[in-house]
Amino acid sequence: IKINKHKHTHDISAGLQSSFGFDQFKGRQEEAIHSLLDGHDTFIIMPTGGGKSLCYQLPAMMLEGSAIIVSPLIALMKNQVDLVRGYSENENVAHFLNSSLNKSQIKTVRDDLTAGKTKLLYVAPETLTKQENIDFFKSIKISFFAVDEAHCISEWGHDFRPEYRRLREMMDMINPDLPVIALTATATPKVQSDIIKNLGLKDPNIYISSFNRKNLYYEIQPKVKLDQTIKSIVRFISQNKGKSGIIYTLNRKTTEELADILNANNIKAVAYHAGLDAKLRASRQDAFLKEDVQVIVATIAFGMGIDKPDIRFVIHYNVPKSIENYYQETGRAGRDGLEGKCILYYSHKDVAKLEHLMRDKPLSEREVGAQLINETLAFVETSVCRRKVLMHYFGEEWHDENCGQCDNCLNPKEKIEAKIEAVQVLKVVQALDERFNIDYCVNVLTGRQTPTVTMYRHEQLPVFGIGKEQDAHFWNSLIRQMLLEDILRKDIEDYGVLKFTPKAEKFLKKPVSFKIVLNNNYDDAIADDEET
Ligand code: ADP
Ligand code: ZN
Repeated sequence: IKINKHKHTHDISAGLQSSFGFDQFKGRQEEAIHSLLDGHDTFIIMPTGGGKSLCYQLPAMMLEGSAIIVSPLIALMKNQVDLVRGYSENENVAHFLNSSLNKSQIKTVRDDLTAGKTKLLYVAPETLTKQENIDFFKSIKISFFAVDEAHCISEWGHDFRPEYRRLREMMDMINPDLPVIALTATATPKVQSDIIKNLGLKDPNIYISSFNRKNLYYEIQPKVKLDQTIKSIVRFISQNKGKSGIIYTLNRKTTEELADILNANNIKAVAYHAGLDAKLRASRQDAFLKEDVQVIVATIAFGMGIDKPDIRFVIHYNVPKSIENYYQETGRAGRDGLEGKCILYYSHKDVAKLEHLMRDKPLSEREVGAQLINETLAFVETSVCRRKVLMHYFGEEWHDENCGQCDNCLNPKEKIEAKIEAVQVLKVVQALDERFNIDYCVNVLTGRQTPTVTMYRHEQLPVFGIGKEQDAHFWNSLIRQMLLEDILRKDIEDYGVLKFTPKAEKFLKKPVSFKIVLNNNYDDAIADDEET
């Protein structure tokens, strides 16, 4: 007797073949699909290109009724609907419902849903906030809810959409008992817990894939004088003739200026930003996809949902506003698994620009923004393997000492012994009862008497100023490396205070060699004087 360990009886391999023409599942697709078909809340965390969509598309095709898929962008929805229709003989199998449709189009969609012809319905979150839609959805058979780009629910993600916060409420109004599948390519633990909490996922099965992109090469260069930076970019692109690439900049004007300069240097380039009208944007995007132009110089408005597998380089002309953004943007290179070079030009002044952009935002948003920027700076300034830092940020363990595919691994800097100083850090964290953040611990180490120090009378602690031989830069760098090695951890639920890990106890009892790299490369980088 064949025992089926799953509650459902669908043959999903046959479904994969008949609906999509694929022979095998990728990664953890199969488990995830079983989970959803068994009626469990399911959470998929896979990098871009991992094959997330199939995890809800296949179940939607197999189950009775229509699946509702929440998607943040109209352009993405249309794309997905076209893709699904491409697999089917039946045009009605997928539809979207959003503000771009007129009355008669809406009627067609509703008629197909009522007639049970539609398996996948893509909606914008706003669609679900309308009472008439809710009433309609209650009247038809829904199979499950899928929340695509689920990180939009979290202000710690890279694309916060407040409307995503109301999804649980909306789903409850339609039918609180339906399973929910959430999907994202954002792997930070903070964003994950936000998603589970805000979507009210009940004891979800979670499927995470590795985020390492082993074919991508990471390099950070100091951004010196404007003309030198531009020369360096032109040289780089000229050395990569015939290879497509993206240059990301912070502001719209720079996209135009850089594109002009590239064209003047015989590199075909176009600018792309949200200030251009839709037609021009579409035609420039097209020119890039068809390789009529080699380079697209863009603001972050460009990229989400772009499926060009052979982008060979991504250049950041300005520092991105979070590691998450950096990972997503660089992630557009080398989707085919072949070469992908990611180069970021960095100056301190760019950071001030990012901060300036946040000046009118509410305080809470500014605080989140400031912390995200700080983490980006730690990544930029580190002398440790870039990949290691990225993977650590995404909560993945990374043991490889030399990845061979980043500037820091290819040109390792000299290391210095910091065993004694690491012990001093631990003593300070301990003396402060593991209740203070990095900046504060550094103040205590260096013996800086701030008003808060005075308030807590920490200047009376025996450890106050034990590290005054070294400067704040040194201590920050050391603490970051201790975080990377899991000797300390930052409690993200508690304002980023520094806490011991089991390794810390061990280290204090029996200190071992702890070598670190110091990096002052960027201290003298001069920023350009471009306007924002
Ligand atoms: P993501 O949403 O995670 O970025 P997609 O769902 O767009 O990824 O899938 C990436 C690519 O992989 C698509 O071209 C898709 O058709 C393909 N794909 C997905 N699952 C499979 C599979 N089991 N076998 C072969 N190709 C697959
Ligand atoms: Zn490396």
